[in-house]
Amino acid sequence: MSLRNEKESVVELKERLCELDILSSQLEPTASSRLELAQVVFQSADKFIEAIKTSPGYSDKLPHGLAIDDKKSSIGALLALYRTEVSQTGINCASGTHLGYIPGGGLFVSALADFLAAVTNPFAGNFYASPGAATVELEVLSWLKSVFSFPESSVGNLTSGGSISTLIALTAARDHHGVKNERVTKAVVYLSEQVHHSTQKALRIIGLGDVVMRKVALDEHHRMQVSALKASIEADLAQGLQPFLIVATSGTTDTGAVDPLAEIAAIAKLHKLWFHVDAAYGGFFILTSRKELFRGIEEADSLVCDPHKGLFIPYGLGAVLVKNKEAVLHSNNYTASYMQDAVVEELVQNPANVSPELSKHFRGLRLWLPLRFHGIEPFRACLEEKLVLTKYFRLRLKELGFKLGPEPDLSVSYFWYPFEADEEAKNRQLMDEIHADGDVFLSSSIVAGRFVIRMAILSFRTKMSTIDRAVAMIERCLRQIEEAF
Ligand SMILES: *Cc1c(COP(=O)(O)O)cnc(C)c1O
Repeated sequence: MSLRNEKESVVELKERLCELDILSSQLEPTASSRLELAQVVFQSADKFIEAIKTSPGYSDKLPHGLAIDDKKSSIGALLALYRTEVSQTGINCASGTHLGYIPGGGLFVSALADFLAAVTNPFAGNFYASPGAATVELEVLSWLKSVFSFPESSVGNLTSGGSISTLIALTAARDHHGVKNERVTKAVVYLSEQVHHSTQKALRIIGLGDVVMRKVALDEHHRMQVSALKASIEADLAQGLQPFLIVATSGTTDTGAVDPLAEIAAIAKLHKLWFHVDAAYGGFFILTSRKELFRGIEEADSLVCDPHKGLFIPYGLGAVLVKNKEAVLHSNNYTASYMQDAVVEELVQNPANVSPELSKHFRGLRLWLPLRFHGIEPFRACLEEKLVLTKYFRLRLKELGFKLGPEPDLSVSYFWYPFEADEEAKNRQLMDEIHADGDVFLSSSIVAGRFVIRMAILSFRTKMSTIDRAVAMIERCLRQIEEAF
């Protein structure tokens, strides 16, 4: 009886499995279907790239029709939807006309790497699961260590971006200095007015929202004033507070300034403070003629850089380097019985041991492939080109009568028009006019209490012709404002 039942149930299960197989196998397209899908997606991507030189930088149109229902659509219909509702709404971040915030990249070879990484899907979280993928990641980190003259013994991790990198670095700083419990409100962090908000955000997330934060005064080039930093630390020590961290920026988001790293490093060393450098935007300019500005970066205890900014990789790739291995392992290295096969000789061979992430996208490939394919030289030239374009843009704006912020260290700068009356209101209108025009995208900020328009030149697709287009647009918008009054 029981035997019969069992037999029956095997038959039943086989039938059920056959039924389900018909439906679930739709998830693996056939060879001919794969080819067709790849071709139409490739054609659509290629059309996007071909049009990118002339397509507008910004559209204020809002997307529609993206909700998920249980209906099937053709790939053609979905690509059309993607084009109009995703690619053509908001800022065109892949375009060279994106001169706002910090521009994005989108190297084609990097996109191919993402495709390959997704198809082969190696587990990049630990060495045991994919020694190849882990090694690609470790080699990318080795290269980054050499770029910033960090010792090979430092640990690194490839993250989704500067914010998560900052989180890892500042957690290491916290744990190295044992900043917890009643020590938190006595601990002091030194940063500048121009620090990126990801620093404060990270501090808040890691339970350090109540530390004392000192905003160190800046000089006329928006760089941290070393004398003010020194005085602030001494005053805090005299008061019985516990300084533990200095955050310097090499390439501020609003003003393109590089803090005096070597001098700050010396102060950090003197007082045994953790020295963190945020090089998310500007770090890779170390590969250019401005190398000298980065002197002292090699003294940092931790450093954050963003290949999805300065190396033109598509969004989703940041990196963190930390000299103190134990501090990083302290918070991120954890194991469990189901991980018992995944042992390695060196803990840091496992990317997951130095990161909050376990399973993750094999993101090392999206930098490894372009670096190995193109070599470093075109990256260097492209960054140098951005520096020259910044000078060119500034000169052209000056010819139009604009006032300019100080000569930036790197490729972010700001400007405003000296209208005779209602200067701020009219500059705000000018910004609105520029957004309504949309040919080139610029963003605004407040620097030293003044409303200013920013230009951030970092896309590999930004060329002299882009700047000419930006100048023509600004001139056009300026005329509209002047005519309105
Ligand atoms: C962009 C930026 C960050 C944050 O990096 P994400 O990659 O956007 O998370 C941090 N610091 C600076 C200076 C930046 O420009």
